[in-house]
Amino acid sequence: MKRRDDPAAAVVRRRGRFVGPLLAANVMVIGLTVTLLVVGSLRSAQQANADRVMDQRTAVARAAVSAETGRYRTLLQAVAAGAGTNTRFDGTDFRAVTAPLDTADLLGAISVAYVVATPPDGIAGAQATWRARGSTGLNLRPHSGAPEHYFSIFSRALHGGTPSPSGLDVAASSEATAALIEARRTGQATVSDTYILLRDRGLPPRQQQLSFVFVAPVFTPATTPVFQGWMVLGLRGQDFLGGVLSTASQNQLDGELLATNGDGRRVRVAAYTAHDRRDLVREATFPVADRQWTLVTGADSAYLPGARSNLPAIVLLGGIALTLMLGALVHVLANGRSKARWQVQVATAELRTAEAESRRQAGLLGAIMAGLGDGVGVVDANGEFLLHNPAAKALLGVDDDVGNPAEWQEHYGLFRPDGRTPFPLDEMPLVRALRGESSDGVEMIVRNAERPDGILISVDGRPLDESAGQPGAVAVFHDITELRRYETDLSVFAGVVAHDLKAPLAVVRGHCETAADELAEAPDSAEVAGAVRALERITLAADRMAGQIDTLLAYTTSKDAPLRRETVALGPLVDDVILGRSGPRRPGDGPGPDFYVGPLPDVYADPAMLRHVLDNLIGNALKYVPKGKPARVDVTVAQAAPGWCRVEIADRGIGIPDDDKPDIFESFHRARTAAGYAGTGLGLAICRRIVERHGGQIGVADNPGGGTRFHFTMPLAAGALRIASPATAAVART
Ligand code: ADP
Repeated sequence: MKRRDDPAAAVVRRRGRFVGPLLAANVMVIGLTVTLLVVGSLRSAQQANADRVMDQRTAVARAAVSAETGRYRTLLQAVAAGAGTNTRFDGTDFRAVTAPLDTADLLGAISVAYVVATPPDGIAGAQATWRARGSTGLNLRPHSGAPEHYFSIFSRALHGGTPSPSGLDVAASSEATAALIEARRTGQATVSDTYILLRDRGLPPRQQQLSFVFVAPVFTPATTPVFQGWMVLGLRGQDFLGGVLSTASQNQLDGELLATNGDGRRVRVAAYTAHDRRDLVREATFPVADRQWTLVTGADSAYLPGARSNLPAIVLLGGIALTLMLGALVHVLANGRSKARWQVQVATAELRTAEAESRRQAGLLGAIMAGLGDGVGVVDANGEFLLHNPAAKALLGVDDDVGNPAEWQEHYGLFRPDGRTPFPLDEMPLVRALRGESSDGVEMIVRNAERPDGILISVDGRPLDESAGQPGAVAVFHDITELRRYETDLSVFAGVVAHDLKAPLAVVRGHCETAADELAEAPDSAEVAGAVRALERITLAADRMAGQIDTLLAYTTSKDAPLRRETVALGPLVDDVILGRSGPRRPGDGPGPDFYVGPLPDVYADPAMLRHVLDNLIGNALKYVPKGKPARVDVTVAQAAPGWCRVEIADRGIGIPDDDKPDIFESFHRARTAAGYAGTGLGLAICRRIVERHGGQIGVADNPGGGTRFHFTMPLAAGALRIASPATAAVART
């Protein structure tokens, strides 16, 4: 069946086409949004964490730098205080008071020196004094042009550095000089601006570092303190900051230490670089001696613990991958689901259509069955009734059915047309049909409690068509009681008419014979001879008329007379017809006809009517031969459809022109070649009626080699499919 597209199924299919991609797109959008949100919040959490870590680290670094500078200052002040206790401060004292600095682990500190102020005119005296106090090789080297000189008298190297040469004039450095002056003025420790240490000025530029000095004034501890000199702690900025920051920031922070000079400028004291890249920057200010220093820290957040990780990238990639997979999965599932739904919808629609169609057909069949005037019964291979239409029940007069064929005769009351003989099971059309045989016009009487008078029915039986899907048989039957009554009346009427018409003819013939006899005794004369010829013509005409009455009677009865079918042995019947047609042969007759009769089967037919057919065809074969030529007739049988035989009567006569062949079975049609041969043109019309009433067919063709070959089909007798009996085996007569 061609698949019909149900409109609902088409809509579902159209929608289904978009469901998969839409759902997949939704899932992707949601998945990507969630992924981006998670990544965003992870990133901001990381940022917050980085800021927090950075703040902590910066605070720690600031505290470290601030504490260190404070410690330097305090230590230096302590050393200065120690030095001030001795008014005759000498080299031994210096070594004693500065000894603790050796172990104080002062990062970046390279030396501590005791510096005294000397006016330009006091240089020689000062040199002598300090040589006497322990600085034996002291050689003061004043910086020219300085209004006051600040000579380094004693010096101690710190932290692996080298002691600054004694006798150096600090006045050569304006930064250090300013710090010295400020410390003396305020009596407090100061810190200098940054500068290149005097001792470093001879180094290559790359090795020079910005440095600074802590300066603590040395006063005597009297009520009115007397200024003695300064303790000066020299520091290399880079080493100081590097040392402090690397410890405090665990190598994670860059640092830049800026000092605010006396003139308000910010100058770089030192810079420490942990990493090249920095994305977080902080600034912290703290006091160092009399100055404000600023620590600028920077860090690459990637190196701050917990501040940066690959987690967001992993989450992003994982989220995208998961989203894509989920989208693909949803797409496949949605597509599969909508496809399956569509298939179910289509299948359901087809099923509904098929169901409606089969209901319609069942309804139609039911209506046809209910409306049929003929009875219809259908049985399965076992003889169980599958169907009996209302007409069948009405005709049989029995409501219930029996499944066993052996009980049919008694149950329905089935008899042969004689009304007495129970109908044999073997000959029942349904039973024959179950054996694969077709049968037509089988007559039987139905007589039972409901039909006490009995009805005559005519039954056709057929094997069930293959399209039924199961083996079985179908019988169609109708009531022919009235028809038979009419046919009987008709035959009675025909008989009466024939008798009444033929009786006067017989009387005429009788009188003719009597008159002829009397004339035979009269003397010969021309009148007598004329009268005798007239009487002969009257007799011939009466005979012809009697013959025509017989033909017309046969023509009528062939149409309406009841078919009284029985098993007929075809061979003896043909023999009998040939015998009747040959007639007694007289001396002087020419050569007689030549017959060949092949093996012939038993057929199921009305014997009188079948005889009429054979007689007509054989009669024509004998009649339509060229004058003076002996006739040759072959009667044979050939295979036809199952249950049927095909009888052929062939001659070597004058043949039938092709133009006439289509019409010769019509009433009163005679071929133009029949001129000169007696006939009415009704014989073949009667044959056709009889053959067709038996359900067969009749036809004509040229006989190969000359002449005509007629054929007709007849149903074979039940259970007698043999082709010929021994008695009728091939005969040839002359
Ligand atoms: P009838 O023989 O009385 O004329 P039929 O009906 O028997 O009528 O035949 C019709 C016509 O068919 C015949 O007139 C004849 O022309 C032709 N015909 C029938 N049988 C033969 C035959 N065996 N050979 C030649 N022609 C035939």
